[in-house]
Amino acid sequence: MSGSEFDVIIAGAGPAGSMTAFHCGDRLGGSSILVLEKAVFPRRKVCAGGLAGRARAHIPFDIGRVVRATVDSFEVNGVLSKEFRLTYGEPVVYVVDRSEFDVLLLQKAKENCRNLVVKQGETVVGLKQELDRVTVQTDTSVYRCKVLVGADGASSRIAKSEGLVQPRDIGLAIEGSLAANGADASQDTIIVDWSTDQQAYAWVFPKGNLLSVGAAGPNARVPSLQARLGEFLRTKGLADDIPADTRSHPLASCNSRSGIVKGRLLLVGDAAGLVEPFTGEGLSGAMQSARLAADSIGAFLSGKQDALARYERLVRSCIIADLEAAQVVKSVFYANPELCCKILCDRPWVWSRCCRVLTGEYTYPKLARLLWMKPLLTQLGSAPGT
Ligand SMILES: Cc1cc2nc3c(=O)[nH]c(=O)nc-3n(C[C@H](O)[C@H](O)[C@H](O)COP(=O)(O)OP(=O)(O)OC[C@H]3O[C@@H](n4cnc5c(N)ncnc54)[C@H](O)[C@@H]3O)c2cc1C
Repeated sequence: MSGSEFDVIIAGAGPAGSMTAFHCGDRLGGSSILVLEKAVFPRRKVCAGGLAGRARAHIPFDIGRVVRATVDSFEVNGVLSKEFRLTYGEPVVYVVDRSEFDVLLLQKAKENCRNLVVKQGETVVGLKQELDRVTVQTDTSVYRCKVLVGADGASSRIAKSEGLVQPRDIGLAIEGSLAANGADASQDTIIVDWSTDQQAYAWVFPKGNLLSVGAAGPNARVPSLQARLGEFLRTKGLADDIPADTRSHPLASCNSRSGIVKGRLLLVGDAAGLVEPFTGEGLSGAMQSARLAADSIGAFLSGKQDALARYERLVRSCIIADLEAAQVVKSVFYANPELCCKILCDRPWVWSRCCRVLTGEYTYPKLARLLWMKPLLTQLGSAPGT
């Protein structure tokens, strides 16, 4: 193959793109792979960096050196008359700095993939699908490949250009960092706040010598999120204003009409809209879809013509079904947050199951079924979401 022809091109070197490349190293033998990334690493990534245990479980190498805090407790503000703290007793979330984490994943992909070429500072600007190949246009070059992976994040230009992904509600989040003073937040606790506007929430994540602070909500606007975060930080005595480095970024969830595969193109991670709609957690979907994508590409390149279509079915059954159940849990919570928080405080087994969803030992569909059972529904007095 010439220098511009590859078996696989991956657009985007975030967690979904790098992990797709990593897994391709195991499954595609000597196939040639090109990763195109518009930024130059290390780069800042707007993200709280909370890697749920279930996301970490999908990473087949040690990431200990980039874990800045290990969380087993949550402090919930703004719902009951007083804030309360819930502890699980075992790690639930590992907090990473995304610029360090993303560098590590890309490094591991390079180590695992014999024929991997990475081009940073090069943006994919267009693509053309033909029967037997895809032509990928960047701001500086043209490449060709047998399979293209769209891993270009929540605002995926690739998904839009191919008419894929119809987000249910484009959420918006803002995030910035504060220096951590010893007393500000313990390294094992995430603080969340649902006050004022129940559909939006604010947070503080411990990150070693920093705190990641932010706010998110469906259909939110930047000024309202900034006001929300500022008020929360003042109430907690953490800062008088939002951090100077605060930036916004969309949170995209897919819906049942969203497509994930078209011809020789498949989408992974945020590009496919795999963000969990209740917490905004997208790293699990990125990790899981990367592995499924590499499996399917391996099968496709060895002659299984329907392998890419099968990827879409797998993502629907393994990931999107989970996200839809998370949406049910979210509806139950927002139908009566006060009652839900009381139940979490009074019934440790409910709290434990919520944590086990995050660690990957339990699932959202099971949790949703549990919440639909009596006595919670009886106590809610109406169907969730009404
Ligand atoms: C404020 C905020 C907080 C969050 N907190 C959490 C959290 O605590 N836990 C969690 O699990 N999730 C969190 N998320 C979601 C999480 O950040 C994403 O789900 C995750 O980054 C998805 O990874 P990805 O690889 O699909 O996309 P990204 O990480 O967005 O990576 C996409 C990559 O593609 C590159 N790119 C984009 N366009 C092009 C192009 N045209 N050509 C080439 N390259 C391109 C980008 O530069 C980027 O490097 C948060 C999101 C936000 C906005």
